[in-house]
This record gives sequence, C-alpha cells and structure tokens, in this order.
Amino acid sequence: MTIPADLLADLRAAVGDAHVWTDPARIAPHAVEDRGRWQGHTLAVIRPGSTDEVAAVVRLCHAARVPMVPQGGNTGLVGGGVPDGGVVIAMGRMNRIRAVDPLNATLTVEAGCTLAAIQTAADEAGQLFPLSLASQGTCQIGGNLSTNAGGTAVLRYGTTRDLVLGIEAVLPSGEVLNTLGALRKDNTGYALRDLMIGAEGTLGIITAAVLRLFPRPAATVTAMAACAGPEQALAIFDILRARCGDTLTAFEYIERFGIKMVLDHLPGARDPLADPHPAYVLIELTSPDPEAGLDARMERALAQAMEDGLVPDAVIATSQTQAQALWSLRESMSDMQKHAGASIKHDVAVPVSRVAEFITRGVAACRAHMPDVRPCPFGHFGDGNIHFNLTRPAAMSDADFLAQYGAFNRIVHDLVAAMGGSISAEHGIGLAKRDELPRYKDPVALALCRTIKAAIDPDNLMNPGKVLAMTSPATRPL
Ligand code: FAD
Repeated sequence: MTIPADLLADLRAAVGDAHVWTDPARIAPHAVEDRGRWQGHTLAVIRPGSTDEVAAVVRLCHAARVPMVPQGGNTGLVGGGVPDGGVVIAMGRMNRIRAVDPLNATLTVEAGCTLAAIQTAADEAGQLFPLSLASQGTCQIGGNLSTNAGGTAVLRYGTTRDLVLGIEAVLPSGEVLNTLGALRKDNTGYALRDLMIGAEGTLGIITAAVLRLFPRPAATVTAMAACAGPEQALAIFDILRARCGDTLTAFEYIERFGIKMVLDHLPGARDPLADPHPAYVLIELTSPDPEAGLDARMERALAQAMEDGLVPDAVIATSQTQAQALWSLRESMSDMQKHAGASIKHDVAVPVSRVAEFITRGVAACRAHMPDVRPCPFGHFGDGNIHFNLTRPAAMSDADFLAQYGAFNRIVHDLVAAMGGSISAEHGIGLAKRDELPRYKDPVALALCRTIKAAIDPDNLMNPGKVLAMTSPATRPL
C-alpha cells in the first residue's frame, strides 16, 4: 500500500521534501515500540517544523481521511505511539524554547523539546523543572504531556499535569487551540488544557506548552534504609512525611529480589548495606535553602524509625557519587529485570494508605496462582504508584510464563480495582490496557470519554484505536 500521490505532493509542499519520509528503512523505527512489544506499520513519517506546518499537515490528512499518529521520543511503554497504518507526525523538529520568564517562573516550550533540554533551559534560568524520567534524554515534553508522565518526584511536585499552565494544540480538524496563557488563575470555563493532557494523542497534537518552574534545590540528602517489607515501609514513610514535610521529594520502595538482580548484572553496582535485607526504601530530601539542615532532619527521622524497630540499618549518602550509586540501584531495576527472564508488568496505583496492603495481597494472590512466580514490586511508594512486576519462575520458559499474561492481569487489576486503585498510574492506556479499560473505568466516565472523542474527532482520525476502541467507518484504510 502506498500513500496517494496527490496527498504526498501536498504534504511535501507543506513541510518541505526533506521532512516527508517514505523510505521503508527510515520510517521503520517509527512503527515499532522500543522494546519490540508492538510492531505497527506506517506509510510516511511527516516532520513539521512549526505549529502552522502541523496545522497544514493535519488539514491535509483530515481532508484525505488519513489516520494520524502523533509521536514524540517514542519511549512510551503502552503502544500509544505505534501506528496501524496512516501517517506518523513526528514532533522532533519543533524543539525551540519560545520564552523564559524567571519572575513568573515559567518556560514556554515547543512540544518536540526533549525533557533533558527543558531541564537544562530551566537550570540556565536558575530554576528547576522537576519532571525527571530515566528516558529524559529521548522523550519529548509533548509525549510527557500526552501521557501525563509521573517519575520519582511526584510526591513533591505532582504529575506533568501539575507542572503546566497552558497548552497549544492542533485539533483533528486542523484548527489551533491556543490556551498558552501563563496564568496561575483562570476560571473562564472548561479546562481544555487538561483535556489534552493525558489524552495520548487521541484528541489532537500538542505543539507547545507553558511550564511551571520551581526554586532550584540548594541542598539534597539521599538515604537508603532497610526494612522487613511494605508494612514497615509505610510506617517509615509516615515518619518521614511528618518530620520532613515538603522537603520529602522521593520515597521509593525496592525488594531484595530487585536489588539482587541489579547487583548481579549492573557493572559496578554494590550492596548498599553490609547485610542483605528483605526490602529497602530510597529517600530523598531537598530544599532551596542551603541552611535547611536536611542531614539532621534525615538523621532524626531515621533514628526514630530505628527506635520504633522499623529500620535495622540505613546509609545516608555522604557524596553525590554515593547518592547516584543508590539511585542507580533503583533506576536500573526495570532494565536488569530482563536478565532474569520474561516479566509481566503492572503500572498501578492505590491510595497511599493501602499501598502496603496492596503489595502483600498482590504477592499472595499471584503466588496462589503460580507458587514459584518471582514478584518484583518496586516504585513510587510515596505517591501510591507501584510497578507490580512479576518475573517468571527460574525453571519455567518465557513462553509458558507469558501464556499466563491475561490470568495475572486479571488477578492484579481486579485487586487494584477492589482497593479503589487505578490500572494505569503513569504510563497510560495506549494499546496495552485499552481492552481492560471498560472492565475497570466507571461506565459513565467511559461513555463521557467516548462522547468527547466523537465530538472533537468525529472521523476518528487522530491516533485511532488507542485508549478507546472506537469504530471508524470513514477512515481511509491505509
Ligand atoms: P511517545 O512514546 O512518542 O508517545 C507517547 C504517547 O503520546 C503516544 O500516544 C503518542 O501518540 C502521544 N504523543 C506524543 N507526542 C505527542 C504530541 N506532541 N501531541 C499529542 N500526542 C503526542 N513514564 C513515566 O510516567 N514515568 C517514568 O518514570 C518513566 N520512566 C521510563 C523509563 C524508561 C527507560 C523508558 C523507556 C520509559 C519510561 N517512561 C516513564 C515512559 C515514557 O518515557 C513516558 O511515557 C514519556 O512521557 C513518553 O514520551 P515520548 O516523547 O517518548 O512519547
């Protein structure tokens, strides 16, 4: 199948010959998810360089009834950016910082800026953009906004949605929605900005955003504390939160099985404490005040946790290198897991008060289904988001384990739902959880989502088939 010659000529006229790719080798990386879980196909990759060019491309595709898939860094983990025909609109050329306003503490950026470039721009302005993901060198702010990305500092700063004041987006019709105001207060009707955030490219293409900046930390203290399991971790969290207030920036949970995988496979990784322990929490305090006394606060909080019998041993990093070594144990977890064979992963959230109960019940339920399964729950404990990963039994083949994918999903997601949680905490729905959504989303909310999608994109041309399964009779089958 090829793209119609007239459309191709018009697209080339809109963005320039060099920015319309049809060569199969060149477009192949845009049709597959990074880990190879989803293989899609596309006829062309279009690389617009401005909002006007995005709008022109969308108008042309809309008129020709050709599906469009917006794509950022293609680091998404749920198949949301994988095309099933049509064209990919790749945003990487829209990578300008449009404005810096230190006094308003805002940065106006184009959607194709990488997250790392935005962090650098904020730093150069003497401020902090706190979103931080292991994929930050590649992922783009348009993708971060479209997935409402989380990361390790949500506890202190919130998700991407909380870091945005305004949005510019091209709607499926080709009209440009401009809510690029840099206002902290604006009660003039529906929050259209928030509709675009987390929509995974199904309602339009984000082209720019006004981002909030924060005071840059002048003091940081990182510690790792051992504990017996999730119940103790929750009690430690309660102490840290009460004693450290909003200087508590990260509180991550890791079990020994996860640490062991990193120690076995990450070159240079070292056991954080003298003896092994069932579980660990990684704690970070930050403050813009260099005199905030964070070391003393951390010491007092950990001393209390030790007195309460919650923490048998702990280490407070004495250098940035040591702090980075502790963080690398946590950040390498997903990657190192592949050395232990196939995994079934769940990115879920429950109320923080129930996160320990969720881990305990989840592990028991999965072991009841498969006694030798190796659970590896870890993640953003302090905001209620656990990456509830399961690694195959040591003696089982990957294929036999992955055949249980549906069964484990049902066990874990049913438990999450019963505990008032969410089946997607930070990665989104995409293709991965699209067919799970009707089982778990409130039916009225789901119907409203469909109504909104049909109103904004009546021909179902914008990232069709993602998030919601909608029929699209008008779509040209490309
Ligand atoms: P893409 O993968 O290109 O796209 C993701 C979705 O957004 C797709 O549906 C796409 O159609 C849509 N989209 C992209 N750009 C636009 C746009 N301009 N307008 C409209 N729609 C658009 N995620 C977390 O939340 N927290 C983490 O801690 C985290 N860690 C990660 C670590 C690694 C090593 C990796 C590989 C991924 C991680 N992720 C994490 C997942 C991923 O990086 C995030 O979801 C990120 O926000 C995706 O950005 P992207 O630019 O790569 O988007």
